[in-house]
Amino acid sequence: MSDQLSLMAVYAHPDDEQGVSGSFAKYARRGVNTTLICATRGEAGEIAPGTNATPETLGLVREGELRCAVAKIGVRHLHLLDYRDSGMVGTPDNQDPRCLHQADLMQVTEQVTRIVRERKPHVMITFDAWGGYGHPDHIQMHQAALMAFWLAADARAFPEHLAQGLEVWAPSKLYFNAWPRSRFQRYVEHLQAEGQELPEWILNFARRAQPEEVITTRIDVHEFVNLKIESLLCHATQLGPNTFFRRVPEHLWRDMLKTETLMLAESRTGRASDETDVFEGIT
Ligand SMILES: [Zn+2]
Repeated sequence: MSDQLSLMAVYAHPDDEQGVSGSFAKYARRGVNTTLICATRGEAGEIAPGTNATPETLGLVREGELRCAVAKIGVRHLHLLDYRDSGMVGTPDNQDPRCLHQADLMQVTEQVTRIVRERKPHVMITFDAWGGYGHPDHIQMHQAALMAFWLAADARAFPEHLAQGLEVWAPSKLYFNAWPRSRFQRYVEHLQAEGQELPEWILNFARRAQPEEVITTRIDVHEFVNLKIESLLCHATQLGPNTFFRRVPEHLWRDMLKTETLMLAESRTGRASDETDVFEGIT
């Protein structure tokens, strides 16, 4: 049965997939067909000291890092959409005409819809409407994935796909990444207890952290924690001395990695409140 099941995540940058790396690994091991759409090569990301990248080569280097990361977690199909990383909100990269933020939303949606029709995912995962912490590229991919979830099943949408031999496809469920406060509470408490300054992104996350009640789905990935770390370490350019993992004891961040939390947002099969498996209810 698993051979026919298909899982797709729709994200914006190399390393965004890390939020569900354990789920990819878990379902890939069960024989689920796995696909990742990544809209950019993360050209506006960081360059950690000691890594061999320049602002000019960062996109190429990060594509390599992404290929390394997804190979470890069993992603079978990787689709890069060739947009440029728009950078954090308010930075000059937002104005680059090649960037995802400047792209026409329907053109992005068309590309995602085409891949949905090709890969036929039963389950899709993407960012929430705020993109986790307000990154313009995350918000753009959230919107494109949400539209593609419905439009892929509508023969009136992008009829050129059908003329080219693709068929309509109706994914069963769309999940959003959801980060309840409880997931990084111990982490924040530790930094505060040590008098360390909280990084800006975690303050944003904390402000927007979702209440426990919106979490519909908790995937137990404790047996994949080592694999998740191996996959994460592929993204060397993004792992500078200030990163998340370098600032708290290992047992704290390993604890955060052992569960992945999602919110069922759209469904053609029914609702969920306390699932442990994204394919629940799909046969
Ligand atoms: Zn991102």
